[in-house]
Amino acid sequence: MNFDFMKIKKEVTKTAIKAKKASANMVETAKYKFKLSEIKSDINEKYMQIGKLVYNSDEAEDIADKLQALCDEITSLKNSAQDIQATIDDMFNKKACPNCSSYVGKDYDFCPKCGNEIND
Ligand SMILES: [Zn+2]
Repeated sequence: MNFDFMKIKKEVTKTAIKAKKASANMVETAKYKFKLSEIKSDINEKYMQIGKLVYNSDEAEDIADKLQALCDEITSLKNSAQDIQATIDDMFNKKACPNCSSYVGKDYDFCPKCGNEIND
């Protein structure tokens, strides 16, 4: 039998780099997804506060300002959620540099940050 050890070694190295990249990406994505779920539960909390405010108020009380403040907070939270979702989407269109872990476009052959060659 004739094994090409160099070829095998190269394939193993490639596979190891790919696995490292994939896990770095998954950890980052998980962090953002966790943040996203936190924001979503904050939004639900604000909706509940609006419901309680309306339910507990009597007709004489002017709750317009309080309602407006809660609505503004919800809008701001929704904007943050959109930004995070955009970041997650962006990460799926990128690959991580095996050397410095920064995310670069899928079509990059070299990392613009550290100059490391990036193989697929
Ligand atoms: Zn790099």
